[in-house]
Amino acid sequence: MEEWLASLTTRPAALKTSAAGAVFLLLFIGERVFAAARAPQSKARLVRNIGLWAVVLVLSPLIVAPITALGANHLLWRRPDAWADGWLLLALDVVLLDFWVYWMHRAWHRVPLLWRFHKVHHLDEFLDTTSAFRFHFGEVAVSAALRLIPVTLLAIPLVHVVIFEAIFLSVVIFHHSNLRAPAVLERTLARLIVTPSIHWVHHHAIRRDTDSNYGAIFSVWDRLFGSFSPNRRRLDMKIGVESLEDAPFLKLMLMPFLKERI
Ligand SMILES: [Zn+2]
Repeated sequence: MEEWLASLTTRPAALKTSAAGAVFLLLFIGERVFAAARAPQSKARLVRNIGLWAVVLVLSPLIVAPITALGANHLLWRRPDAWADGWLLLALDVVLLDFWVYWMHRAWHRVPLLWRFHKVHHLDEFLDTTSAFRFHFGEVAVSAALRLIPVTLLAIPLVHVVIFEAIFLSVVIFHHSNLRAPAVLERTLARLIVTPSIHWVHHHAIRRDTDSNYGAIFSVWDRLFGSFSPNRRRLDMKIGVESLEDAPFLKLMLMPFLKERI
């Protein structure tokens, strides 16, 4: 395993891109063949989502990747060599990073300045695989910078961060997707990971539901910390932000810096 892990450290971006790309392609096709909700025929929405994604794709190698590398080179202590080759430690790091993301997601909702950025994601009025990449670049960059806290404090090796990112992206694409999975499979998966049914309620345009179901990979955090919505997914739930409408691409890009009601 050591050799395999070492090979990943040399090309972390390739691992992440190929894993997320394969999952995206599979689910992008899957949700068109087995759709849960009827998808809107809106080209404008696709342009917005893909536009925001393109900004992230272009700026990530310039900003996010160097931030991640900075963390990897400035760990506050060194883990003993004996810990290097351990699946258990890898699993623990993935759980810890997901725990961090859960609390950060709560902060993106609760801190007004952060919500200005995260709102751009929530203004999407439907959910499918393209929603998974619809984030304001500011949110992506700040998230990468704040993640330096757990990474440096816990001395999490770069390879574990990269594996976490590959799992994280795959589950994020899955839980945003419009894939109609058999109910029994969805229920079974929901015990462990965040499924489309769980995340759909997070995008319900009712603030009480928007401020619930914050989990990214594991569904346990919401149950443990009292943020799991009692509401089940209904396909006629309005998706978006309560009393707000989606905006054109340029306005979405400028939105965090505009003074307006949030
Ligand atoms: Zn959210």
